[in-house]
Amino acid sequence: MNDGVMLARPAHGVVSETQRVTHVFPLPDTATPPRRITALCGASFGPGQLLRLDNPTGMPCERCLARTPQQDGEPISSGQRLDEIEQAVHSLQTQVDGIKTALAALTDNHGDP
Ligand SMILES: [Zn+2]
Repeated sequence: MNDGVMLARPAHGVVSETQRVTHVFPLPDTATPPRRITALCGASFGPGQLLRLDNPTGMPCERCLARTPQQDGEPISSGQRLDEIEQAVHSLQTQVDGIKTALAALTDNHGDP
């Protein structure tokens, strides 16, 4: 079971504004953040291309959410309403607290020494 996920969305200019949705990223098991991370929907980003989200905000990526392991193990159907999706994002917020540090290292520490 993958209990490590984080929320982030592309920084301004990385993608078009309409594509700046909140993606869900699985956290690696390693302590070292990878150079690139790939969202559940397949979108891939490098360090500095993502904005960490302390709280879910903006439009969620429905494709990510559909692939996010849910408490009951059932994926969200694409036909569900947005507010239900937002609730799913909100539920992820509790997990975000524990992974802030890892994501901060990825987004704030992208300059090599
Ligand atoms: Zn996505």
